[in-house]
Amino acid sequence: MCGGRVAIYPGAPPGIGDLAAKTSRYGAYDILEILRADGLGAQPPVAYRALDFLTTNGFAHRIERLNAFVACAHTLEDHAPAFLICRQCDTVAEAPAGPARAALAQTARAAGFAIEGATVEALGLCPNCQDVAP
Ligand SMILES: [Zn+2]
Ligand SMILES: [Zn+2]
Repeated sequence: MCGGRVAIYPGAPPGIGDLAAKTSRYGAYDILEILRADGLGAQPPVAYRALDFLTTNGFAHRIERLNAFVACAHTLEDHAPAFLICRQCDTVAEAPAGPARAALAQTARAAGFAIEGATVEALGLCPNCQDVAP
């Protein structure tokens, strides 16, 4: 996060911006914890509204496979990354998916299909876990 404190929607719990800046991966449950710490009462709808805000504004990406959210490392760029998910430690790395997406779009076009959204999630082992693996 390079821009310091995150600008959050009006009325947002103060802890949400810090969460987006500090935490690399979180779920709705973590948001609820923050809300509780802020003394706001942990209401699931508030947590989901916060997560919705973070994802639609590019502060975070939703990782379907893990049912979790990761903070985005490139919030200022409009980008469509691929996610490299370690099956051992659940670390998520963000990688540019430009070429893969271009190929996908081309294939889709040939099939007469209009893509509206695609999430690239790759499963494997991160460098750390490869060292440990037998
Ligand atoms: Zn990103
Ligand atoms: Zn790993």
